[in-house]
Parts: sequence; C-alpha cells; structure tokens
Amino acid sequence: MTKYDLIVVGGGVMGTFCAYHALRKGKSVLLLEKDAQPYAASFRNFGQVVPSGQALDEWFDYGRKSLEIYESIQAVTDISMVQKGSWYYASDEDELMLLEEIAVLFAERNYPCSLHTASECLVLNPSLNKDYVKGGLFCSAEASVNPLVLTHRLRSFLIEHLGLHYQSLSAVNGITQQNGINKVSTASNQHYFADKVIVANGKDTQFLFPEHYPSEDLKISKLQMLRLSPQRRVFESNVLTGLTIRRYDSFKSCPSFSSINTSAEQQLLQSYGMHILFKQAQDGSIILGDSHEYVPAHHQADFGFELNTAINELMLNEAKRIAHLDNWQVSASWAGFYMQGTNTEVFTKTIDESIHIVNGIGGKGMTTSAGFTASFIEQCYQQ
Ligand SMILES: Cc1cc2nc3c(=O)[nH]c(=O)nc-3n(C[C@H](O)[C@H](O)[C@H](O)COP(=O)(O)OP(=O)(O)OC[C@H]3O[C@@H](n4cnc5c(N)ncnc54)[C@H](O)[C@@H]3O)c2cc1C
Repeated sequence: MTKYDLIVVGGGVMGTFCAYHALRKGKSVLLLEKDAQPYAASFRNFGQVVPSGQALDEWFDYGRKSLEIYESIQAVTDISMVQKGSWYYASDEDELMLLEEIAVLFAERNYPCSLHTASECLVLNPSLNKDYVKGGLFCSAEASVNPLVLTHRLRSFLIEHLGLHYQSLSAVNGITQQNGINKVSTASNQHYFADKVIVANGKDTQFLFPEHYPSEDLKISKLQMLRLSPQRRVFESNVLTGLTIRRYDSFKSCPSFSSINTSAEQQLLQSYGMHILFKQAQDGSIILGDSHEYVPAHHQADFGFELNTAINELMLNEAKRIAHLDNWQVSASWAGFYMQGTNTEVFTKTIDESIHIVNGIGGKGMTTSAGFTASFIEQCYQQ
C-alpha cells in the first residue's frame, strides 16, 4: 500500500496548482482526474490573467502573486504565458471616469498602468471603432495563457520534475477514514491512501460530499463563448471593454462607481451578464465572449443543453460596435461552466480535519488560483 502525503481530486487549474505548492513543500502528491483529459472550465476560458479586474483586497494580491508564479514557471518550461498587457476601452464618459479613478487606485498600489486618450488608442490600434472608444487604460504587467495547453503542460512539468503522481479516468466516488488515514476510492474500484485530501472538483459536486456544497452558498455560472476564424493580427494584448469596466470587482472601489448612468442598451446586455472581451490566439483566431447565466449548485440541468443563439447574436453585435475585423465568421461556439461562491470569493470547507474542499473561485481562476492556492496549502498544513 502506497500512502501519499496528499491526494488532490480534480485536475483543473485549482487542483493542479494545489499539487504544485504541496510538491514544492516536499510533499508526495497524487492527482486524480475523472476524465481521460480534463476539459472543464480551466480548458475552455479566455486565459486572461488580469489582476486589474479583481477586488482591491487580497484577491488583487493573489492575482499579482499568480503573475509572478506564472513567470517563474515560464522561465523554466513553456506554459504558454505571453506578457503583453491588458487594455480596457471606455465607451462613454462614465466608464472613462472609472478608468481615471482606478488609475489612481492602481498607482497607490504601485501597479503599472497608463491612461490614453481616444486618439492615442486609435493610433495604437487602428482596428478599434472610433465611435466606440472614448479612452483607454493599459496595464502593462498583465498576461495571457493558452487555456488549451496551460494546465496540461504544468501537470507534465510537475510529473517530470517534481515527482507528481497522476491518474486520469479516476472518478473519485468515496473518501473514508481508517485509523486516521484517508482512503480515496474511485468508480473503477481503485483505492488510494493519504494523510490529507484536497477536493477541487469544480461544478461536479454531486458525486462527492454533495451535502457539503449548500446551494445557498454556491451557484453555477454558464458562459457562452465564440471563436472567430484565424485572421491578421489585430490584438496583441487582452482586450476588455466598457461593460467589463461596469462589471469587474476592482471598479467597485472607484468613488464614482455607484453613480454611473446605464443606458437601456447596456441594461439589456447586462441582463445576460454580458461584457465583451477579445483575445487573439497564436493561430490568429479571436476568442470573443462572454455572457453569464446562473443556477444554484447541483441544478445545472436547469441550463438545458443548448447554446442560446440570441445571446451569441447580441455578443457579436456589441463586438462589431467595438472593432473592425477582417473576418467575423464564427468557427466555434461553446459554453463553459464554473462554480462561484454566492457571498464569498471562494468556497472552502474542512471535513474530519484532513479533507479540504476548495471550490467556487468563479470567473477569476486563471488569474488568481496560482497565488491563492499558495496560501490555501499553507493553511491546510497549519491544521
Ligand atoms: C468561458 C470561461 C471563461 C473564463 N475566462 C477566464 C479568464 O479569462 N481569466 C480567469 O482568470 N478566469 C477565467 N475563467 C474562470 C476559470 O476558468 C475558472 O475559475 C477555473 O478554471 C476554475 O478551476 P477549477 O479547477 O476550480 O475547476 P475546473 O476547471 O472545473 O476543474 C475541476 C476538475 O475536477 C474534475 N473532477 C470533478 N469531479 C471529480 C471527481 N469526483 N473525481 C475526479 N475528478 C473530478 C473535473 O473533471 C475537472 O477537470 C473563465 C471560465 C469560463 C467557463
């Protein structure tokens, strides 16, 4: 019988970074993933690493720490990190005011950013629509990663260099304790043993301790995304736009946030949780999104199984107001799902002292998981 120091359930970005930090503490770690290749939220997102969007508390710091961690790993192995900054474009005077106010808040925190007039933005990126852009803010330290490869490459690196043990096709369906040791059982009747277990199972909470994920504390978000055909490079950086300025937590710290005006058109898009982000991938394709719909934890069937074509149309129409592109042909559209704390930034729970649930990081997992899990692993090992 092999006994590990730690078994991590769930091969998404959160589980993989828990494994990373525990391995760096010298722990022996087994990572169990239910699918042949994990393909949940961590693999179907934008891959924007944007601390600038996070609440200006410890989550902003987790984002900055994540950038450092991504950089340090990228220096030794290619995890697809590209550090070309993020642009926020304001579409009206209210959003412009928020950009000016947040620039002050970032300066107070020594977070590099620069404000630009509309004409500077248009010179720097002639693909932007002059009727849309009223000004911009550039956050130069920010990065993007390719979600299709990041977590897979990190896992391979951990296996090769830090001794991570990994089993795919291992759907964990039971964790019991025997003589103070955790026995982790899978649907294929394999049993593994560890002193500690971390459960980072994303939205699939119905199979393991469902009673510990109260639907009043956790909700599931469905996001619709589009990919436009490969084309001439127009976006080097992450691109975030007016409705993002109105949506992201950091802007809620701006003095004027509560008094901004919202047009009927903006309200319609906001009713679908919509804001427009662009990211141009290495192959020239442009990822465009997104929208947000919500159901309580365990109720994902309420989403049905279809993509809402009206939402895709609304996103495309709004995107066409923002930029001129050579090719608006949609080559793929998909939905991604993540768990989000209802009233908390992340959901953690400890069962029987040595089983730790970590979930509900919401729409900021690619930006903050690497930094957050460093603290989370420390806490787990203080208990
Ligand atoms: C469309 C979309 C766009 C996004 N864009 C961004 C962005 O640009 N920037 C950003 O910071 N964040 C973004 N996010 C958020 C980010 O993707 C999530 O916060 C993050 O991926 C959550 O990671 P996770 O590991 O908690 O969950 P997941 O990625 O869902 O991973 C959970 C894993 O656990 C496995 N699992 C579940 N149950 C079991 C079991 N019983 N046994 C074994 N394995 C199990 C699953 O198969 C899965 O692989 C986006 C999310 C979406 C959906």
